[in-house]
Amino acid sequence: MPINNISGCIGCETCVQVCPTDVIRMDPKTKKAVIQYQADCQICHLCRMYCPVDAITITPDKSIPVVVSWG
Ligand code: SF4
Ligand code: SF4
Repeated sequence: MPINNISGCIGCETCVQVCPTDVIRMDPKTKKAVIQYQADCQICHLCRMYCPVDAITITPDKSIPVVVSWG
């Protein structure tokens, strides 16, 4: 499973901009991020890492091991 939940989004649109495969879109009504094309998720974790409020959950199954420390 790829990205599977967005909860607590503050609508900054960062995840929409960083996702390489356009999985996430902004809902024009709620102004929050929604998972639009989940099947296209490459499990790259960029959206999760860039989200300022940790709103994005990616299921650990098949996820790439985190070997690089960003910081
Ligand atoms: S994990 Fe990567 S491919 Fe999947 S939704 Fe996030 S940024 Fe897009
Ligand atoms: S990066 Fe986080 S807070 Fe910003 S739009 Fe995406 S889910 Fe919402």
